Amino acid sequence: MSRVRRIVVVGAGQAGLVLALGLQKHGYAVTVVTDRDAETIRAGRLISNQCVFEPALRRERALGINFWDGQAPEILGASFGLAGDSPEPAISWQARFDHPAQSVDQRVKVSTWLTAFAGRGGEVRIGKVSPDGLDEYAREFDLVLVAAGRGPQFDGLFPRDDRHSPYREPQRTIGITYLVSGRDEPLPTYPGLTFGLSQAGELFGLPVQSVRGPVFGLGFFGVPGGPLDVWDDVTDTDEHFAVAMALLRKQFPWVAESLADARPSGPQDALRGRVLPIVREPVGTLPSGAKVLAMGDAAVTNDPIAGQGANMAAHAAAVYERRILDHGDRPFDEAFLRGTFAEYWEKAQHATRLSNDLLAPPPDHVLATLDAAQRVPEVAHRFAQIFPDPAGYTSWLTDEEISRNYLASKGA
Ligand SMILES: Cc1cc2nc3c(=O)[nH]c(=O)nc-3n(C[C@H](O)[C@H](O)[C@H](O)COP(=O)(O)OP(=O)(O)OC[C@H]3O[C@@H](n4cnc5c(N)ncnc54)[C@H](O)[C@@H]3O)c2cc1C
Repeated sequence: MSRVRRIVVVGAGQAGLVLALGLQKHGYAVTVVTDRDAETIRAGRLISNQCVFEPALRRERALGINFWDGQAPEILGASFGLAGDSPEPAISWQARFDHPAQSVDQRVKVSTWLTAFAGRGGEVRIGKVSPDGLDEYAREFDLVLVAAGRGPQFDGLFPRDDRHSPYREPQRTIGITYLVSGRDEPLPTYPGLTFGLSQAGELFGLPVQSVRGPVFGLGFFGVPGGPLDVWDDVTDTDEHFAVAMALLRKQFPWVAESLADARPSGPQDALRGRVLPIVREPVGTLPSGAKVLAMGDAAVTNDPIAGQGANMAAHAAAVYERRILDHGDRPFDEAFLRGTFAEYWEKAQHATRLSNDLLAPPPDHVLATLDAAQRVPEVAHRFAQIFPDPAGYTSWLTDEEISRNYLASKGA
């Protein structure tokens, strides 16, 4: 009989936990090492906006970890508005997704999954793993996966891949706050993604199932140095709320009315910061010579502007799981690790391209497409679908000729 493979996942986020729960289902002895326990995560500050589209939700359903279906508000489509000179948007349209998306506050989701993993017999070790500490795990386990999220902590192990990392600095200043209605009735917000575009940056709003129930997540993505780059000195949630509402009225006034009765949902429910988009060398070599593999944000971090990171983390979990299962008893050597990342990147590259392109001013043919979407519902639908399926973006809007020909074929 073959030996049980021992696998350790460092980090308990959307990437690491979905993989750990998936392997656990197949009888693997998986250990998760993470720096925060479930209660600390749940009681902590806001982490993300986490709009998760149907492909990732389908996977969660297959694993039986879709605990919020029927409870989390359905995100039915996208509502787009381009800021112009008047209070009304210069361009606006709405389109439904083929399947609803969902946003469950990661504090809720990750803490529940971590508890479920332990409840199903998985080993959880609480502790912060340093790059130097990884060798200890490499001695104990057959495979070490690093899913410890974004940031520079593993820079030395997984250096920047210049070929796929066009930016050296964060391109947006992010401010997100969760809102509830100050009245008895719910906020009359659009039941989907509200996306606003202006020269100063973007607005990204959505219904979220949060720690204390449903909220509206209101996020601003500001071009550095511009009028939406205002969060550095904002420390308190009430101040964050006041600044957000003032920005909304000034920059995206057509959205302001639906949030006129809003108030902050809780003292921990605000987030501000910057994300450096980066693709890394995914295979790291430890001092002992052992190889480890990065996944999720630890391997590829996108600016959250296009809502892709959690979706690609879930995709990584699916690809890594299947590759591990297919590999059977063979050693997890460098070729296996590189092949695993390469298969993930086949799809993830589209999400990265979409996220990076959205950080630059839209070219004329994209503006023409957004304009045509007002008159041709099929164009609006196709545009909305690039978020659940970013490969639909790279095969279309990255090429001016293809885009113009498509618009002509639709009589736009
Ligand atoms: C403001 C904002 C909005 C976003 N909106 C969206 C969106 O709408 N849609 C979307 O798809 N994505 C979105 N994202 C991105 C998404 O949140 C991330 O891509 C996703 O959470 C990455 O998952 P992960 O498992 O790789 O990392 P994480 O979720 O960051 O998890 C990493 C885990 O590792 C643990 N950890 C960290 N360091 C160590 C260590 N040294 N030792 C042990 N444990 C460690 C952490 O505590 C955590 O549990 C957003 C991100 C931000 C910041």
